[in-house]
Formats: sequence, C-alpha cells, structure tokens
Amino acid sequence: MSEDTSPVHAPRLAREVADTRQRLVTGGLFYLLGWVVVAAPSDVAQSHAVAGALVGLAFLLLAVLRFWPRPPAEDAPADKLQAWLDTRWWVVLATAALWGGVLSWTLLDPHMAPGRTAALLCTIAFATAFAHNYSLRLGRAALGIGLIYAPAPILMPYTGESLSVVVTLGVYTVYLGLVMVRSYREYQGQLDLYDRVRSQRDEFETLSRVDPLTGLANRRYFSGAMDHLLAGCRMHQQPLAMLVMDLDHFKYVNDEFGHDAGDVCLARFADRMREVFTAPGVHLARLGGEEFGVLLPGLDVRAAAEAAERMRASLELHPLQLREGPLSITVSIGVASLAPGSSAEGTDLYRAADRAMYQAKTDGRNRVRIDLGTA
Ligand code: GH3
Ligand code: MG
Ligand code: MG
Repeated sequence: MSEDTSPVHAPRLAREVADTRQRLVTGGLFYLLGWVVVAAPSDVAQSHAVAGALVGLAFLLLAVLRFWPRPPAEDAPADKLQAWLDTRWWVVLATAALWGGVLSWTLLDPHMAPGRTAALLCTIAFATAFAHNYSLRLGRAALGIGLIYAPAPILMPYTGESLSVVVTLGVYTVYLGLVMVRSYREYQGQLDLYDRVRSQRDEFETLSRVDPLTGLANRRYFSGAMDHLLAGCRMHQQPLAMLVMDLDHFKYVNDEFGHDAGDVCLARFADRMREVFTAPGVHLARLGGEEFGVLLPGLDVRAAAEAAERMRASLELHPLQLREGPLSITVSIGVASLAPGSSAEGTDLYRAADRAMYQAKTDGRNRVRIDLGTA
C-alpha cells in the first residue's frame, strides 16, 4: 500500500503509529456487534448458516488483528513503523469491505431483508466514525468510507427503496466527505505542531550541551562526559587523562583587536584543538572564557603531556589566522591523569589539571606542566 506515503520523518511516523493504534482500539467489535444485530432478525441461521458464521468469524479475526501484533517501539526504523501502519490499514479496509459486503447482502438477498434497516443505520454510523477517526491518511480514509457506504446508494435504486432515502444518503455522503477533509487537516495541523515542538526541544537540548561560539561541548556536558568516561576507564582498567588549557594574555587580544576578534580567536583555537586531538574517544570542551578542557581516555600522564606539547607547539609554530592577520598567541597547559586503580574522582582530576595549568602560568606561560597527584 503506497498511496500518500511521501517520505516521512520517523518521529512524525511514530506519532502517527501511536495515534492509529489508539483509534483502532474501539472499532473492531462494533462491526461484529453490527453483524449480530443485522443477522438476528433475518433467517440467515436457517438459509445461510455457514456463510453467516464465517462472516462473524471474519469480523472477530479482523477485530483481533487491530490489536495484534503490537506496534514497533517509537524509535524503531521508519520502514518497520510504516510496515505496521500499512498492515493495520489493510485490516481496517478489509473490515470496511466486509461490511460493504454485508450491506449489499441485506439489500440483495430477500432472506436478509429484515436486517436491512439495522444494516443501513450501522452503515451510516460506521462511515461517520470512519470519517472522524481514520482521516489520518486522506486517500485511505476515502477508500474505507467508499467500501462501507457505496453499496447503499448504488444498490438501493434497484431494491425498491424510496427515492428520498437514496437522495438523503447521497447528501450525507457529501457531509462525510467534508468531515473527513476537515478532520484530516486538523490532524495534519497537530502533526505540524508536534514537529515544531520537537525541533524546538532538540534545539534547546543542543544549546544546553554545546558552546555556541566554538561548537565544542560546554562545561556542563563535559562534566557529565567525564563521569561517564571515568566509569568506562575503570571497567577496562585504563587511565583517564585531562588537560586544562588557558590562552596566555588573552585580554591583550580583546584590548588590541576588539572583542569580536577575541571571539574569532577563541573559535580558531577550538578548530586547532580539533585538528590536534584526533584520537578516538577524545572529548573537547570550552570550560569558560579562554579556558578549554580535553579528556583523553586510555592515556597516562606522560602520553597526555606529549599530546599537550603537540598542541602548545602547534600554536607556537602556526599562529591562528584572524581577519586582521596571523595572531601569535600561546597557551599554558596543565596535565593530570587518573591511574586505573585510583579511588580519586573526576573532580580531583579536574583540580589536579587546573593546578598544573596555574603552575605553567607561574613558570612563565607557554608551557606544559604535569600534576602527579592523581597519577
Ligand atoms: P593569563 O595569561 O593570566 O591567562 O591572562 P589572560 O589575559 O588570558 O587572563 P584574564 O583572566 O586576565 O583575562 C581573560 C579575558 O578573556 C578577559 C575576558 O574579557 C576575556 N573573555 C572571556 N570570555 C570571552 C569571550 O567569550 N569572548 C572574548 N572576546 N573575550 C572573552
Ligand atoms: Mg588566559
Ligand atoms: Mg583564564
């Protein structure tokens, strides 16, 4: 079933799956009940006992198939969600077609004539419910209503019904069409609103963990990542190293070139970090102002100091490029590492790296210093 299934964003589809499931809950058994009400006054039990029982069984089976199997999880791949949705639509449309068959039967077979009025009333009720409930997909809803309802205006002129009844049914068809379209538009509006709310939520979520100037993780996210990495390193008996890097005399950049150039400098420095620290599992962050952090899982303090030295030397040898020209700026870096067996926490690692960074400042800046307190 491929009608009106333009590429859909999976969360939107997941929402449609959930809504469809909710709307499927009530319908199925009403058709079975409708069949009982139609069959009871007619003599189907004597004239067509087997066919009558089969129709009842079919309605029962279709009612069960509305609930079973359950839909895939909300985050399942789009094709799985679509497949579940399509199968449910087949069930719903098969139910509609079967009811159309029942209506035709009551109209054409004199044995069924006593159930005709009940069949017509049920048909109107089912078609109305369909227009309200299943307008999530317009084409499919129109097909369903047609299957339930069409036998009435088509066959009734041949069964001796009064013209006024046929005309009334025709007018009611127009009403059903309008209800269906309005209900479809309302539902699409709901989905659009849902999309907007979701994308805003994603935006806020990103803002809450990314520093907008540099695109690096912010301090809050970095702290969470540190706890996570620490647990992983402990499990695999590996060290976890951290660098704290602070640009030297950064205030001078702002004073000399302006705050905007200072911002560009910070962004270029972040780019350089991305170029230098490329090992898998590395986490980079802007801790605040002109201070940056690096987490290096699996590195002891010596290996981490070598990585820090590569960053320091890179900045010394290759100045950052600003609009105003190349900017010679240096960085002071503190290094610390947690040994695998250490009981120290992430905050201890942070403090040790920070101490080492201040030591680098005190020792004259543009250098790497190690703190062995947690190694
Ligand atoms: P030191 O070598 O001792 O670290 O000297 P410093 O000048 O780098 O350090 P200081 O703490 O004296 O000054 C840091 C400056 O960084 C002051 C502040 O205005 C500037 N700064 C902090 N955040 C930003 C920012 O987002 N953009 C810009 N342009 N400047 C910032
Ligand atoms: Mg500084
Ligand atoms: Mg600072």
